[in-house]
Amino acid sequence: MSSNPNPTPRTRVVREPQRAVYDRDAVNQILDEAFLCHVGFVVDGQPYVIPTSYGRAGNVLYIHGSAASRMLRNLDQGIPVCVTVTLLDGLVLARSVFNHSMNYRSVVILGTATLVDDPQEKITALRVLSEHILPHRWDDSRQPNEKELKATSVLRIPIEEFSAKVRVGPPIDDEPDYTYPTWAGVIPLEMRSGAPNRDERCSRELPEYLRDYSRKGK
Ligand SMILES: Cc1cc2nc3c(=O)[nH]c(=O)nc-3n(C[C@H](O)[C@H](O)[C@H](O)COP(=O)(O)OP(=O)(O)OC[C@H]3O[C@@H](n4cnc5c(N)ncnc54)[C@H](O)[C@@H]3O)c2cc1C
Repeated sequence: MSSNPNPTPRTRVVREPQRAVYDRDAVNQILDEAFLCHVGFVVDGQPYVIPTSYGRAGNVLYIHGSAASRMLRNLDQGIPVCVTVTLLDGLVLARSVFNHSMNYRSVVILGTATLVDDPQEKITALRVLSEHILPHRWDDSRQPNEKELKATSVLRIPIEEFSAKVRVGPPIDDEPDYTYPTWAGVIPLEMRSGAPNRDERCSRELPEYLRDYSRKGK
């Protein structure tokens, strides 16, 4: 077990607490398999929850985007955020409608985002983001120029106050329902890459790092 201070009163899972995970390594595994998060924040009393990509470096999550976007413009003012990440692993079909569920691994991070203004950290963060989503792609692409860097904001979110919740296994029905004559079990779901589709203006052969692309075991 890691020595992180979690859960805090704000990140303690209430419902189905046996599914809660507060271990940093287990949380990092979920964060590393996924690369999409939802960032929740409030501006003028209105909550917004914006899907976006991220990268992880140690105990920091980096998100980036157009310097002109509402999310980036507001979050660099140091307002509180809630970041969630979800991996959906299956549909859990119970006998009763009530006990249907899903198998999943999800993470909730609470914190405050800060703008990365040091040019060296900004480039490093952009590389982290790129490598988190697709290892080897950064070095195989043209690097960002001054104009592109200026148009891009990068935010740093500390992974300090967090929780994960994990559901695995078969449906859990009420005992009398086990004789109900319907199919019950789990339909596994996973995100898989398809065959790469070469751009018609690209003449290069498919590199190995793209042929072998997978999120599993990252
Ligand atoms: C794919 C998927 C489908 C779901 N479907 C449903 C549904 O249909 N109905 C439903 O009620 N719930 C559903 N959940 C569970 C839901 O995310 C919450 O866990 C649930 O609402 C209970 O929250 P709570 O009242 O215990 O905690 P809250 O009081 O809402 O949260 C307290 C703290 O617990 C932690 N926490 C709560 N939920 C999660 C989580 N999922 N992952 C990580 N940390 C968490 C957070 O740190 C949060 O700040 C689903 C979850 C996933 C991932």
